[in-house]
Amino acid sequence: MAYKEPAPIDKHDNDPLGSMMERFNKAVELINNDSKLINIDKNIIDSLKYPKKVVMVNLPITMDDGSLKVFEGYRVIHSTSLGPSKGGIRYDMGVNLNEVKALAAWMTWKCAIVGIPYGGGKGGIKCDPTIMSASEKERLTRAYTAAMSDVFGPEKDIPAPDVNTSSQEMAWIMDEFSKIQGKECPAVVTGKPILLGGSLGRSAATGRGVMVSCRAAMGKMGMVPSESTCAVQGFGNVGSNSAQLIEMQGLKIVAISDHTGDYYNKNGINIDEAIKYRAENKTLAGFKGADQIGTGELLTLDVDVLVPAALEDVINSDNAHNIKAKLIVEGANGPTSADADAILHEKGIVVVPDILANAGGVTVSYFEWVQNRLGYYWTEARVNRRADRTMKLAFEDVWQTATKYNTSMRIAAYVIAILKVTESLQHRGKFQ
Ligand code: NAD
Repeated sequence: MAYKEPAPIDKHDNDPLGSMMERFNKAVELINNDSKLINIDKNIIDSLKYPKKVVMVNLPITMDDGSLKVFEGYRVIHSTSLGPSKGGIRYDMGVNLNEVKALAAWMTWKCAIVGIPYGGGKGGIKCDPTIMSASEKERLTRAYTAAMSDVFGPEKDIPAPDVNTSSQEMAWIMDEFSKIQGKECPAVVTGKPILLGGSLGRSAATGRGVMVSCRAAMGKMGMVPSESTCAVQGFGNVGSNSAQLIEMQGLKIVAISDHTGDYYNKNGINIDEAIKYRAENKTLAGFKGADQIGTGELLTLDVDVLVPAALEDVINSDNAHNIKAKLIVEGANGPTSADADAILHEKGIVVVPDILANAGGVTVSYFEWVQNRLGYYWTEARVNRRADRTMKLAFEDVWQTATKYNTSMRIAAYVIAILKVTESLQHRGKFQ
């Protein structure tokens, strides 16, 4: 099939970088007004508004039909003050520099919140992987890795999967990078196949962290799992694992969705069946365990818990007023626009923010990197136990900080992250 790019999807007021900066500024305001934080150098905080490094490459690739196509690739390193930068690589037509910058900064905050020794980075290639053959994707991934061989490194910058990339792309990156270095370098990427040094528990880790933070928030709010309903948007890695693990806690999953539409069953959807159906058919289209409802309707259903686990900016000023869930647990990165934050806060809806709720993935990525460097591999039970503990501690920290500053969990999470990164920069003392 010849590669023909579709027009990029026109997302609603999509400005993840703007949203990130708005929240950053709100958190900085709270930090500035806290007289107890006299030791924090406020000037250093300003430097965190900018990424440390931005790399853009053009990748000429021979397509299967013999034609040449040039793809744009990005890697943004936001910060390395707490450790090497860490963050996924996204293959999507919507990839652009501002989005990658926001995603890189979110990784800095995320790693700081869960207390793992990493900074933040993110990468992406503007392409439509759904119409590319496996060999086209392999050539593209290897070309991107070669172009980024000075950027990546187990002690420099460590990629991972994100939207439309999986253990397969990570295996290609590891292989290409190892060839260039002339030695095996499994710790250069995480999210690898288990046989190549991947960690048990990594594939479900983000969804597992969503479930753990969902349970923790429900506990604080006095919500009873067996009496609660939940809707999950997106049925990829994060959505399907979140839905399955949340269902196992006793909640009834009444709605799920993917890019083919939204599916609803008031009696509850059997998530194992939906996962099996998706594995066999690639999408949820035609799934008999639920009725198809209007696209986007899932977000405003009368449910107790809502888990957006697909795209950015889906909860925005157009629909935030109509959200009925009491609790939103953000599986996706940036699913709520900054405009919607205020509306949700006013309505008393508790939002467990992305930089906390989906940090289970990077936590187990860290465990994978540790295992690669040790050459000693843990059981899945050990990985899950340690990841759950990390998520619970981080949740409690954010909850207490939100109470202390009388603010949302999102702004509290930014406060914690900004303070940690600023302190680490003060210790390094590298400002002239
Ligand atoms: P994925 O590619 O595995 O799945 C994405 C899902 O979203 C698919 O089911 C797709 O059909 C669905 N989708 C696309 N457009 C949609 C639409 N308009 N309406 C409803 N569903 C739609 O990606 P993923 O890894 O699950 O990532 C999802 C989100 O979670 C992204 O924001 C990503 O950055 C974030 N995230 C992922 C991880 C991870 O470990 N994979 C970690 C942290 C955060």
